[in-house]
Amino acid sequence: MTEGAEAMTPDGAAAVRALAGARPVPYWLDDPEHRPEPLPALSGGTRCDLLVVGGGYSGLWTALIAKERDPSRDVVLLEGKETGWAASGRNGGFCDASLTHGFANGLARWPDEIETLERLGLANLDAIEEAVARHGIDCDFERTGEIDLATEPHQVAELREAAEEAARHGLGERVTFLDRAAVREQVDSPAFLAGLWFRHSVAMLHPAKLAWGLKRACLEAGVRIYEHTPARGLTDGRGGEGGAGEKGGSVAEKSGKGGSAGAVIVSTPHGRVRARQAALATNAFPSLLRRLRPYIVPIYDYALMTEPLSEEQLASLGWQGRQGLADSANHFHYFRLTADDRILWGGYDALYHYGSRIAAEYDQRPETFRKLAGHFFATFPQLKGVRFSHTWGGVIDTCSRFSPFFGTAHGGRVAYAAGYTGLGVGATRFGAEVMLDLLSGESTERTELELVRKKPLPFPPEPVRWAGIAMTQWSLTRADARGGRRNLWLKAMDAAGMGFDT
Ligand SMILES: Cc1cc2nc3c(=O)[nH]c(=O)nc-3n(C[C@H](O)[C@H](O)[C@H](O)COP(=O)(O)OP(=O)(O)OC[C@H]3O[C@@H](n4cnc5c(N)ncnc54)[C@H](O)[C@@H]3O)c2cc1C
Repeated sequence: MTEGAEAMTPDGAAAVRALAGARPVPYWLDDPEHRPEPLPALSGGTRCDLLVVGGGYSGLWTALIAKERDPSRDVVLLEGKETGWAASGRNGGFCDASLTHGFANGLARWPDEIETLERLGLANLDAIEEAVARHGIDCDFERTGEIDLATEPHQVAELREAAEEAARHGLGERVTFLDRAAVREQVDSPAFLAGLWFRHSVAMLHPAKLAWGLKRACLEAGVRIYEHTPARGLTDGRGGEGGAGEKGGSVAEKSGKGGSAGAVIVSTPHGRVRARQAALATNAFPSLLRRLRPYIVPIYDYALMTEPLSEEQLASLGWQGRQGLADSANHFHYFRLTADDRILWGGYDALYHYGSRIAAEYDQRPETFRKLAGHFFATFPQLKGVRFSHTWGGVIDTCSRFSPFFGTAHGGRVAYAAGYTGLGVGATRFGAEVMLDLLSGESTERTELELVRKKPLPFPPEPVRWAGIAMTQWSLTRADARGGRRNLWLKAMDAAGMGFDT
């Protein structure tokens, strides 16, 4: 929503009133009934075939699929806090088939393989749906699709063009352009001017329950999970520190096959793990491979949750299809219904802290919450009087191409996946498959993708990093206020293939 819509905010005091008493914790994690007991930390040293570092979706899928591929493999997962506490337990729950942060970004960056990427992405979403059913994971999975919304006149033409472009690539059946009347038939807001409905390629789910369900599935498959066990360092058994011997994503580039002799040793405060192979799934947190750190900046994203809507409030929206919704500005909102008919309302501000700092105190940002609440009532004036029950923020792993990147290190014994940039609920499962493919040493359709073989551009060091991100954010805000027109800075960044998004 742009400055214009911000000015539509009917009453700042109403936003403050609606936020009064909201609990400053992620709604999804605030659930003592379903939240599992923490597991014990590692105690003393251990050995395994595969060590997974990180207990979000990325690590959990990697551990689970590793067991499915080879049940005899001894798999250990180390989580620094509790499984699913970070992005995986506090996101919007939009499980998107896209592996490329949307079709447009994928088309711009990988025009030759976009159709393959779309096919693999849809198969990945199907596999998530199938795994959720097979493991009995009760995560409110609803394959409702998503409508991208135009809330400014120039965005109407952009959505129409996006629909035509998708049709030219054989994806016409997946997307439907909705004019103003048609979109308001789906969800009623005076702010909506048009929509693009992705009917089957997005599901809504309860993010924390997915993480907790995957944790249970991992344990049932025999994965040994140690919580409150941060990995502090990684060596290759010959004393080489993280980063030494790192290679790109190409299997052909690797100096050794996945099963080569030697070991990876990961140290923790509670003992060392000696593993034949390791998969790093640490998202926005500092990578154990130092050389990867410049590829990611931690960006804070924020969300509100309303109290459950009454039947009349729900009826006033006409949101029968329960689709996920997102508007189309550079600073965009995403919003959706929960199983008990609350509205999650998130996005817009994207905060970077100097030095790529991550800290618990950044999870709450009252000025952002007031802004978001104002936008909420401007979008749905019929919901006047609704109150918010929860406010929270979380960190995402933004990379300069918005789509995950992959690779190996230490002679192919360590694989990593990172850079999901706010669209990892679905794509992390694909990333898990890629990491396991890379560790196997086999060439697969996935490992041959340019998406997998090539890395994004790294971010520059501070203070240039901070200044560059600030300049980009200022330019994006201006573009939103000026009918989408991108200034010279943004055009130069586009030409260099360097971007900033959430
Ligand atoms: C507010 C918000 C809204 C979002 N909304 C959406 C959405 O609607 N749809 C979507 O697709 N994506 C969304 N995302 C992004 C999505 O949540 C992530 O892409 C996804 O959860 C990434 O999973 P992950 O396992 O890589 O990371 P995480 O869930 O962050 O897990 C990484 C784990 O690694 C652990 N760890 C890190 N370092 C170490 C170490 N050294 N030792 C041990 N453990 C370590 C951490 O403690 C953490 O638990 C959102 C993110 C946020 C914050």
